[in-house]
Amino acid sequence: MKAAVLVIDMLNDFVKGSLKVAGADEIVPRIRELLAWAREKGMPVIYANDAHIRGVDAELKLWGQHAIKGTWGAMVVEELKPEEGDFVVEKRRYSAFFGTDLDLLLRELGVDTLILTGLVTNVCVQHTAADAFYRGYKLIVVSDCCTALTDEDHEMALEYMRRVYGAEVKSAREVMEGI
Ligand code: ZN
Repeated sequence: MKAAVLVIDMLNDFVKGSLKVAGADEIVPRIRELLAWAREKGMPVIYANDAHIRGVDAELKLWGQHAIKGTWGAMVVEELKPEEGDFVVEKRRYSAFFGTDLDLLLRELGVDTLILTGLVTNVCVQHTAADAFYRGYKLIVVSDCCTALTDEDHEMALEYMRRVYGAEVKSAREVMEGI
């Protein structure tokens, strides 16, 4: 097994800006710890970031302006800033695979397992999990490194990914301790 950690939409707009997710602040230090662990092990760290085109992208009509490409809102929060050797994929839809070269990147890196973290559990994380499942990747969803607008949304999405995509749902501690 070769795993990569995917960090989805840990952007200023979702953590502190126009589309702030309550509870996003709390997962930042745990993701930070998980990323330090991954880099230490030489495991690829890949950011999948919304980078919307103003006035064009369909998501903006549903959710309002957020993560407009090139703005502060579309930048990864300072505490989780990508480091040298990390990878960044820009996306315009919920899924990190749709219209991006993530699949190509993962294949070239020889990755077969994705460790999913970020925002929000039942939208971008879940849609990314679906696309990963279709492409044959194994999935680990880190339950305390994701969050959603409500606890119910979060819990339902974790259960859905476990049941429908065969994802393992683990805490950051369990991932780092290899449990
Ligand atoms: Zn978006």
